[in-house]
Amino acid sequence: MPLCARCTAIYASYILLPLFYFAPKNLFTLGLSIFLQLPMLIDGLTQRWGLRESNNVLRVITGILSGIGQCLFIWFMSYMIIQILK
Ligand SMILES: [Zn+2]
Repeated sequence: MPLCARCTAIYASYILLPLFYFAPKNLFTLGLSIFLQLPMLIDGLTQRWGLRESNNVLRVITGILSGIGQCLFIWFMSYMIIQILK
């Protein structure tokens, strides 16, 4: 498979992007979108540094959280651009 479990989960979670249209808009904060990247960063970096070994279940979970965070970031930035252009 050309993509790892983590990247597959990230791309798969992009499918959720249209559903964020129905979510409360105060959910779209830069802080939350960055916070959702932390599990993936911790999992990836501790594995990279040889401190521990990750597994595919952990990679998928952290990948989904990261993908949702990226969706929130896209919505947040889109919303900000629209507010500026108004
Ligand atoms: Zn990957």
